[in-house]
Amino acid sequence: RSGYCAATRTFRSKRADVPLPADKEVDVVSFLATRRHSGVIALVDAWSGRRITFTELWRAVAGVATALAAPPVSLRKGQVALILSPNSVHFPVAALAAMSLGAVLTTANPLNTPAEIAKQVADAGPVLAFTTRELLPKLPRAHDLRVVLLECTRLPADESDPRIVATIEEISATPPDPARRKYRVTQDDPATLLYSSGTTGPSKGVVATHRILISMVQIIMTRFRLEDSDKTETFLCTVPMFHVYGLVAFATGLLGCGATVVVLSKYELPEMLRAINTYGVTYLPLVPPILVAMVAHPKQLPLGQLHKVLSGGAPLGKDLIEGFREKYPHVEILQGYGLTESTAIGASTDSAEESRRYGTAGLLSPNTEAKIVDPDSGEALPVSRTGELWIRGPYVMKGYFKNIEATQATLTPDGWLKTGDLCYIDEDGYLFIVDRLKELIKYKGYQVPPAELEALLLTHPEITDVAVIPFPDTEVGQFPMAYVVRKKGSNLSEREVMEFVAKQVAPYKKVRKVAFVTDIPKNASGKILRKDLIKLATSKL
Ligand code: AMP
Repeated sequence: RSGYCAATRTFRSKRADVPLPADKEVDVVSFLATRRHSGVIALVDAWSGRRITFTELWRAVAGVATALAAPPVSLRKGQVALILSPNSVHFPVAALAAMSLGAVLTTANPLNTPAEIAKQVADAGPVLAFTTRELLPKLPRAHDLRVVLLECTRLPADESDPRIVATIEEISATPPDPARRKYRVTQDDPATLLYSSGTTGPSKGVVATHRILISMVQIIMTRFRLEDSDKTETFLCTVPMFHVYGLVAFATGLLGCGATVVVLSKYELPEMLRAINTYGVTYLPLVPPILVAMVAHPKQLPLGQLHKVLSGGAPLGKDLIEGFREKYPHVEILQGYGLTESTAIGASTDSAEESRRYGTAGLLSPNTEAKIVDPDSGEALPVSRTGELWIRGPYVMKGYFKNIEATQATLTPDGWLKTGDLCYIDEDGYLFIVDRLKELIKYKGYQVPPAELEALLLTHPEITDVAVIPFPDTEVGQFPMAYVVRKKGSNLSEREVMEFVAKQVAPYKKVRKVAFVTDIPKNASGKILRKDLIKLATSKL
């Protein structure tokens, strides 16, 4: 019943495997584009009401790809293209056009500071950036980048920024040239380079191939099975498309299902409600802080035809599930679990029935094996025992970009991904996430790597040592807290520490709590004993 095999000490998914294409020469875009869903609305801009059919979408993707393959961009296979943009109906078009040429897509959080973006640009080395006029100043000037603006207008004749080549609106009308793709793109070629800090250290590029994306798209398509039935769903995209959750669901997977995706450029509760009611949204993928806001609201919010919410990206507490069910009994609440390194969904609940097990992240995705490994002994554990979750499946990343050491620490030679999450799998095969072993802090679902904040704090002349840990919070999930060792004689205040960080990082990475200590607890090899500090910080709660 649990899918556990005692001989190999592994769990196998209880869901039926999905087939993967045998033809090596298929990329994720041609895989998606074979399902044309002519006439169906693919994307709706929630703000303007603009609708794009699947026919128009694939036409725009081919037009943009044709324009990008030609001078002055001449985008080639293996080159990197960056998207720095809030959610928009242009985002999937840009992403699909770049990947269809064999270019590798990287995405950045628009909230990041120019310095944070410059770091990613230096690491990934994009030749092309899709961005908006508003975000353009955040791109590093020194780097030789061509820019396509994700705007609905045409470029003015007197455009003065020489980096800007065109707007997406004008190039999407380019007549598609069947010979635009000058290189063969195979399933084994890299498709995306999304950034994640993984189990330790700063952000790293996660390499996923076309095959990896195809397998996740296939899993999503099998799950929603919209093609085989006459029921259609209208999804609302509240989660960022730069994150694996948004990219895999809204910019690829759901487009393969023929579902309609309503795009919100930025999540705000009133805007979300307006979109749900205006466009007849039936299905709402989100992160737990949105559920918190819906439950905490003094009134019962009007949710129109909404019948399902899917929570992912961070833990969902039992109280929150119960609070939501009580307030919105007609809406099913589902969960998904995954990580950037697993290209989104490693486990999920697919029905109200499966969600009844409070706190479960669901059954393992199709084509997935799992191990629960004792973090101390390295021994694989049986049913209902808690240890680190390792997963293996066709959607697990290839490795970290230009970082063999981090890759070897995260992927075993036989393909297991060490998730850094402390979990157990029960007697019926349901996964439960107990805690996070890895350093990662998640603020409203956004990744905050403690190592980045620690490195920054150590540049302060009055700080000799520091450790940053997650501090629990019902509204945002967790926020960064810093334990700081001051230089002898320093009167540095908590506020000064917070301001020092706030000036240099994106708002979601701000340190929001500080405590001064005389030393940071470390083990014999100098590793910060974060669990001790977390215990200390939360003991008074
Ligand atoms: P990211 O790579 O940004 O998607 O972050 C992945 C991490 O988010 C996972 O390793 C978990 O620690 C956490 N996470 C994602 N989904 C869930 C979930 N449903 N329940 C608990 N934690 C989750």
